[in-house]
Amino acid sequence: MHKIDLGPVQFVEGLQYSFPDHLCANCGTTLAVSVQIQETRRATYMLLGGTELTFKLPIPTCEQCAPALKRRPLSLINKIFIALLVSLALATVVLLTVTLGDVSMPVSDSVLLGMSPVLGFGLTAAYFMLHRVRAPQTSYYQPVRIEQVKRAFVDSTIQKIGFAFTNDAYGRAFAQQNKAAIQAKLISARKA
Ligand SMILES: [Zn+2]
Repeated sequence: MHKIDLGPVQFVEGLQYSFPDHLCANCGTTLAVSVQIQETRRATYMLLGGTELTFKLPIPTCEQCAPALKRRPLSLINKIFIALLVSLALATVVLLTVTLGDVSMPVSDSVLLGMSPVLGFGLTAAYFMLHRVRAPQTSYYQPVRIEQVKRAFVDSTIQKIGFAFTNDAYGRAFAQQNKAAIQAKLISARKA
């Protein structure tokens, strides 16, 4: 069992959780597993604006999956933003080549510019395809997610935390170990 240290943040009575430590939270192996800290940031919103909490979760991992613990999952919005940046960079290169290089292009500038977003999104999609996981790993990114943090409006105590797991077996072990808090609806566990 590992204590969770969140500094000055208060939890509502009975809200506690611990992570099973006998299997890798990502690939599920029970061989050579060690507990490492996964940092998960989560913004919560209260009366006077938002605060960002950093949860330091003690997550068991094998050596192969250890790098994933440091990779924060990217949302679809993040990926689209990256694709837009890549497109913009390509468009800039096209414009610079045309203006500075004074080169005659086989196709018109506007066609090249028009192709920038297509290429940008294509390259970004290809990058994320290449960085997908291979079985038995379940995630290229952090295997344990915090999907929900409910804080009280007035005293800002944490009322509920929703966890999600990329590895089914690990999620089940977590649910088993934290049965009481789950039944009390203080925490929840589901598949990521
Ligand atoms: Zn593993």
